[in-house]
Amino acid sequence: MKNLNELTIEQARAGLDKKEFTSVELTQACLDRIHDRNEELNAFITVTEELALEEARKADEMIAKGEQKMLTGIPYSVKDAICTKDVRSTASAKILDNYVPPFDATVIKNIREQGAVLVGKTNCDAFGHGASNEHSMYGPVKNPHDTRKVAGGSSGGAAASVADHQCLFAIAEDTGGSIRQPAAFCGIYGLRPSYGRNSRYGIMPMASSLDTVGPMAKTAGDIAILAEIMAGVDERDATTVPEVVPSYKDEIEKFEIKNLKIGIPKEYFELEGLDAEVKEAVENKIEELKKQGAEIVPVSLPYTKYAIPVYYIAVPSEDSSNLGRIDGIRYGVQSDRENLYDTYAHSRAHGFPEEVKRRIMVGTYALSAGYYDAYYRKAQKVRTLIIQDFENVFQNVDVLITPTSPFPAFGIGEKKDDVIAMYLADVFVSPGAVAGIPGISVPIGNTKDGLPIGLQIMGPRMGESKILQVAERMRISG
Ligand code: GLN
Repeated sequence: MKNLNELTIEQARAGLDKKEFTSVELTQACLDRIHDRNEELNAFITVTEELALEEARKADEMIAKGEQKMLTGIPYSVKDAICTKDVRSTASAKILDNYVPPFDATVIKNIREQGAVLVGKTNCDAFGHGASNEHSMYGPVKNPHDTRKVAGGSSGGAAASVADHQCLFAIAEDTGGSIRQPAAFCGIYGLRPSYGRNSRYGIMPMASSLDTVGPMAKTAGDIAILAEIMAGVDERDATTVPEVVPSYKDEIEKFEIKNLKIGIPKEYFELEGLDAEVKEAVENKIEELKKQGAEIVPVSLPYTKYAIPVYYIAVPSEDSSNLGRIDGIRYGVQSDRENLYDTYAHSRAHGFPEEVKRRIMVGTYALSAGYYDAYYRKAQKVRTLIIQDFENVFQNVDVLITPTSPFPAFGIGEKKDDVIAMYLADVFVSPGAVAGIPGISVPIGNTKDGLPIGLQIMGPRMGESKILQVAERMRISG
């Protein structure tokens, strides 16, 4: 029999509804696990123990009255770059060390309305900037499978909190891979939804034309449940689109693999630096799907190679403008200096880590008079070509399969000071982000050294159902 904190959402729902255990017991099991492990893994910046137990008691009352919803009584974590009402939200930067939002992000409001139980806020690279969680001002997160390795980033704490069974699911943000890559490194599922599918209201903005918010969980079924609850139009985020939200959970159950056309983009498999074990594991999975009747179609995405350069112009540019509000006056910890200029300068110099400062400087430069056309505008033009690349292949195939990351979790400290190597870690997750399409990372096994391997499934815009169906099929196929 599993410990309560090791259950999936669906298992916990069944157990709570049959009164086999209470939400207070389930929540306590998660809190105990956090107490045992947080000092070592550092997945949580804030643990909301009292609030969690109070929410769990309320959930038990709802269940006693038969008023429960899908997530009532289920413990979860939220990335610290997402606003949670009355709960400190630092984005892992000291400038927001004292920031307690007076409101919930819309997706968090949706989840709270279900009666889910918040156990804490998870560590991440500051404001989502990074691929290893080493750019957090609260220390790195360690990988639960091997504590000498990174948990991935930027949502390393979110991934570790689920993989280590400190909660049953996590809500995180993905601008250029921050849900999918840590999910792969920690051996769980993580979905980046289509741009426009979920409201970003209350997600601390990084690059507004790429930011998304999505779920991380232990099964594709759990992800489907969460994706549905999180999706939809929000008048507070004008980028949300009024498209019907399907019941993803029902969709994944009525799936026929025989009709499926899977595209394999050659550029992703020819990359120098692709780890041999990762490549083999992904190719074996593709072979299994073929045996089950899927049609495998080799495809090409020639502009993929420009995704990282485009991303690292567009993101810092939008960053430099978005982060302007975090100045110690409107938000954040204010340094006490003699004049206004020094107050701004000191607050920002001490409140942001190096990577955030780098992005602000690169972005300010790229947007400055005379350079805008050469950098930002050009990047946007190439971005259109990348979008068209994907649109073209999705004329002929239903989904694309690639590795999530070229390699399994790397060592803590290994890439921290090599800016370009860190950026290149996102080579397979940034193209989909630049194009605004959905992607999910699925855990497909471990390397000889016991590190998880993730496979990425991408679909056309608003094609969440299809990628969830294929993700679920992988579990069934073992
Ligand atoms: N690693 C990427 C970056 O540093 C992704 C960040 C994200 O998705 N938040 O920009």
